[in-house]
Amino acid sequence: MSSVRPWRDIARRQCRQIMVGRVPVGGDAPIAVQTMTNTLTSDAGATIDQIRRCEEAGADIVRVSCPDVESTAAFKQIARAANVPLVADIHFHYKRALEAADAGAACLRINPGNIGGHDRVAEVVRAAKANGCSIRIGVNAGSLEKDLLEKYGEPCPEALVESALDHIKLLQDHDFHEYKVAVKASDVFLAVSAYMGLAEAVDCPLHLGITEAGGLIGGTVKSSIGMGNLLWAGIGDTIRVSLSAPPEEEVRVGFEMLKALGLRTRGVRVVSCPSCARQGFDVIKTVEALESRLSHIKTPLSLSVLGCVVNGPGEARETDIGLTGGGNGKHMVYLSGVTSHTIQSDAMLDHIVELVEKKAAEIEAAKAEAELAQ
Ligand code: SF4
Repeated sequence: MSSVRPWRDIARRQCRQIMVGRVPVGGDAPIAVQTMTNTLTSDAGATIDQIRRCEEAGADIVRVSCPDVESTAAFKQIARAANVPLVADIHFHYKRALEAADAGAACLRINPGNIGGHDRVAEVVRAAKANGCSIRIGVNAGSLEKDLLEKYGEPCPEALVESALDHIKLLQDHDFHEYKVAVKASDVFLAVSAYMGLAEAVDCPLHLGITEAGGLIGGTVKSSIGMGNLLWAGIGDTIRVSLSAPPEEEVRVGFEMLKALGLRTRGVRVVSCPSCARQGFDVIKTVEALESRLSHIKTPLSLSVLGCVVNGPGEARETDIGLTGGGNGKHMVYLSGVTSHTIQSDAMLDHIVELVEKKAAEIEAAKAEAELAQ
């Protein structure tokens, strides 16, 4: 269930669009969700397996680090197996960038100011152009250039933006414009302020991230505050949530953030209550089971699971499928916001899974029919 409500609208910042492989980033493209592998890239099998799990979770783009020649050697096999475009993560070693571009990278994450001079930048740009790669400039408060640290005394928004502009200029001087930029910091105030400054200063797509955000819960909260603030202001064309957690979790958190802001939809959006003494069934266990059994659904739809009639009917009115706890193990099911039928506790889980799967199939069939009719 959805309807147009102006107080929900987010006006996205206008910017150029670039391509990361077949994925458009910027312009009016959906905000792309990224993550990064944490396997040894030289272990192609393990890296491909992890990329698969990220693809299943919905990743649009996956970044793979290339710290050594063994990594770029394995990159070819990894890129061939991946269904999503890969970004090769390079620090300092421009030769790894040349190798990764040749090995099938869709994008190079490299800071042209850190690779050792004009000729090397020219070589990287040549390799990127020859292989159709875009470039992501990644400024990080933790590794700001010495001259900027001396000038500003400490990492600050102005220093991050100036660093980004310096790197951008090097690419522009080589007539290269297929780039996107990040100005990350682990401090949310610093990161948000830097991104806001950068958004004013450039017309390229922006890659959002709160770097080294922390573990699953702490990092999710911190990223949601920082990136949520920016996304709400219309800033951000691709996001990576950095968590000390498996990369597929980063993808899930990224989508939840975009779903919460109505910027993207994917899979089942669950509305559920924390439960209390009024609950007619065990809400927490039910939601856990439903989230796990419905994780394969990619079609966007909404499901409300509330323990009783206090808020149940109201939330059910706003969701595609609703479940509200009742007395004596008998609960109310709502379809498209309308009271439909009751279900007993013991049959409830299987029944809701069945309803959601049926609804997803109906939505997909209607979509296919509409596409055929065009
Ligand atoms: S919806 Fe009912 S069961 Fe859930 S928290 Fe509210 S009052 Fe408690």
